[in-house]
Amino acid sequence: MTETLKKIFKEKGVSPSYTRMRIYYYLDDCKTHPTVDTIYKELIDELPTLSKTTVYNVLKLFVEKELVYEVNIGTNEKRYELVIEKHSHFICQVCNTIYDIPYICRPIDEDVIPGFEIIDQEVNLKGICPNCKHKQITT
Ligand SMILES: [Zn+2]
Ligand SMILES: [Zn+2]
Repeated sequence: MTETLKKIFKEKGVSPSYTRMRIYYYLDDCKTHPTVDTIYKELIDELPTLSKTTVYNVLKLFVEKELVYEVNIGTNEKRYELVIEKHSHFICQVCNTIYDIPYICRPIDEDVIPGFEIIDQEVNLKGICPNCKHKQITT
């Protein structure tokens, strides 16, 4: 896996430092759209010299190099995930979990916004996840 990742980094012009690789693996592993804070807390034991600034800078580089996607869900804390297949998000307003759901694309009549060319659209859903809903029913 390390060799594969080194190849990915090389293609994107990212030099493969241990910290960078570790953060990449963490994102690959957790799939929970972590914040800078979460990544820092999870890796600090293993990488005692790690700082939040480093985590932030590595993520910034990854975003620039299109390895990582910044999930914009309207909260003030940015959350991150590896660039994978295009998908939408469901944000649970009870437990704050961000779920990956199949990509939702709404047909838009371009006459509604004349003159604008649409390049991308992002549909995020908010609500209550099955886990939280279940808890509400049973308690
Ligand atoms: Zn929930
Ligand atoms: Zn996602």
